[in-house]
Amino acid sequence: MLAEGVALPTGESYEAALKEISQTQTLADLDSLRVHWLGRQGILTSAFKKLGELPPDVRKAEGQTLNDAREALESAIASQKAHLEAQDTKRRLARTAIDVTLPGRDAEIGSYHPLTLVQRTIEDWFSRLGFVVASGPEIEDDFHNFEALNIGRDHPARAMHDTFYVSGNELLRTHTSPVQIRALQQWGPPLRILAPGRVYRRDSDLTHTPMFHQVEGLVVDHDISWAHMKSLLSDFLRVFFDDAPAVRFRPSYFPFTEPSAEVDLACFFCRHQGCRICKNSGWIEVLGCGLVHPVVLQTTGVDSQQWSGFAFGMGIERLAMLKYGIRDIRWFYENDQRFLKPSWMNTMVNTEL
Ligand SMILES: [Zn+2]
Repeated sequence: MLAEGVALPTGESYEAALKEISQTQTLADLDSLRVHWLGRQGILTSAFKKLGELPPDVRKAEGQTLNDAREALESAIASQKAHLEAQDTKRRLARTAIDVTLPGRDAEIGSYHPLTLVQRTIEDWFSRLGFVVASGPEIEDDFHNFEALNIGRDHPARAMHDTFYVSGNELLRTHTSPVQIRALQQWGPPLRILAPGRVYRRDSDLTHTPMFHQVEGLVVDHDISWAHMKSLLSDFLRVFFDDAPAVRFRPSYFPFTEPSAEVDLACFFCRHQGCRICKNSGWIEVLGCGLVHPVVLQTTGVDSQQWSGFAFGMGIERLAMLKYGIRDIRWFYENDQRFLKPSWMNTMVNTEL
């Protein structure tokens, strides 16, 4: 029990102050009590200042009373402060607690892009037959993209290539065929190359995008004939499409091959009966090919009397869409995880077809 002394203002008592301190709920309330009693203008501070005015016989006892009161208040404030801080910490910990019984978050596993997988499948197959993977620039010049491939300035075939021009003579290559020209110029015959890569055309809908991928193949050697090409491509399609049904070589026209053909597969969506995919013809076009035109060989300095060859080109997106029943070419470029996951081949197969 603290002596009340003589210097306390009316209505204030040390016992009441101690009780109040022990009942504070926040550090802010506690601090305002501290200021009220012990601050520069506080009750005790003022009382100490008034000690000198008291008569000497009272002064000593009053000084003792004030000292006791200050010690008691300071210690009460310190212990309440420790108590409130501990409570605070406990509350904060409770708020940020980690529930170790919750299931963890799975880390997404990356995978190769479907187009990369299809491209590699094609590269693997042809590499085993001695084909070398070659590449060329995506910004081409008119000579390699058109001129050297027997597509002169006024050739009507230019209209089939909706070309993006970069500057007067430079353009984004419209096909991978310029790599044929570069390979013939650089290495000369005999050669077997496979040239996968990006190509560009001004075209955009369900089955066309301004950028897509092609694979070009070229074989030049002595005595290369149509039979070599036909057996090679038939074998490839049979393997790529898992025992594909019938293959048909249909006469066609490309300026850089002669004779030329487009290759069709019997439609495996409708079993050759006719459907939306094959436009009711029962056949699906998968690639273009032909024997290298003598003019192309001569342009690159190859003697067309001694050497002959064949070339073929196919769209990687188109092959992937047909193999896995993918409905929309734009899915390849939208980065939708459901499509890009390794299991895409199973989950995205178009059941409506
Ligand atoms: Zn069909």
